[in-house]
Amino acid sequence: MIKAVEPIFPGSYLGILGGGQLGRMFTQAAQAMGYKVCVLDPDSESPAGSIAEKFIHAQYTNVDALKEMAVLCAAVSTEFENVPAGALDELESLGVFVAPRSACVSLAQNRIAEKNFLASWKAETNIGPVPYCVVERVADLEHIPADLFPGILKTARLGYDGKGQVTVDDLSELSTAWHEFGQVPCVLEKKMDLDFEVSALVVRGYDDAVVAYPVAQNIHRNGILHTSTVPAPSLKSQQEKKIIDAAKALIRKIDYVGVLCVEFFVLKNGDIVANEIAPRPHNSGHYTMDACVSSQFEQQVRAMARLPLGDTRLLAPVSMLNLLGDIWFEGSEDKARVPAWNQVLAHPDAKLHLYGKSAPRMGRKMGHINCLGESLHGARHTCAAVAAELG
Ligand code: ADP
Ligand code: MG
Repeated sequence: MIKAVEPIFPGSYLGILGGGQLGRMFTQAAQAMGYKVCVLDPDSESPAGSIAEKFIHAQYTNVDALKEMAVLCAAVSTEFENVPAGALDELESLGVFVAPRSACVSLAQNRIAEKNFLASWKAETNIGPVPYCVVERVADLEHIPADLFPGILKTARLGYDGKGQVTVDDLSELSTAWHEFGQVPCVLEKKMDLDFEVSALVVRGYDDAVVAYPVAQNIHRNGILHTSTVPAPSLKSQQEKKIIDAAKALIRKIDYVGVLCVEFFVLKNGDIVANEIAPRPHNSGHYTMDACVSSQFEQQVRAMARLPLGDTRLLAPVSMLNLLGDIWFEGSEDKARVPAWNQVLAHPDAKLHLYGKSAPRMGRKMGHINCLGESLHGARHTCAAVAAELG
């Protein structure tokens, strides 16, 4: 067995739990560096499973499958945020280097733990969470501070892309919404007056080295990321420094190895609050694939393999456009069409990435395009033009 401190060299297998697009781009980055990849996913047709050297088609909690993975892989990571913590624990107990640790993934899986964590380190990071309170029991409804309204009720678990959350204007709406969620554990957050949204991407190596990418400014549509632009057009340099310092402090606090994304809100009054953390490469970090010296996926490989981290330097301003299944349809799913790829690729600095998913569906993430520019204006201009052509 590999001793904990030794690096894992190219030629070895790296494992990934989850075979979605993040797993696929991880696999591509690992293969480019000469690694072999083992993907475990419950879906027989996963974007990563179809390109990995080894695909284990099984539930995350299947102990035999995890053992098979442990025999093959000296290190394993996860691309699926809601992977059962027990699967990571099992791999750890089998002697596999799991990065990030199971405890870090668990923290990000539960909004209550996540907010409490962000709140507990506010004095050191200088950035706290949005004002919030926990709603777990009927009695909690009696102690809701009035100034949390209007608020957003979010389920503690399994929310993503704006799902599992609802705006509530007062206590009676809160009570109704919580009952409709089946009285599962939730957080009520104050609805903030957002100026804009950003995310910080930080990476920590096995040796405690921490690097940060430039902060991305994100625009969401219907709760799903639409564009990420770097350098963040609205962010002041001292705000960016504050955000990066906070993200670097957080990644160390939880003894996290690998790529971590922290989402922040910049409020109309200039204050900055932390929204949530994602324990993996993130959609808002896809720009790094074409615009940085090392992509976020390459960094995940390096961190897992206990190798030195790569350079996060931005080579060109960039605006990433997410491609949803919607562009394969004319308004509704019964009117299929082919997106205007020829027009898109007529922009020589538009870099197309498709995830190899067989069936487009409205709202399904199918790919993204990184639009580079000699200037920020140029990158944004290309992004807007491409979006309009695919419209
Ligand atoms: P998800 O896990 O779905 O990404 P988020 O908590 O990030 O959930 O919320 C999705 C989006 O909803 C955010 O990007 C932001 O636009 C908006 N939002 C979430 N919480 C708040 C809040 N407290 N105040 C204002 N807007 C919010
Ligand atoms: Mg979010």
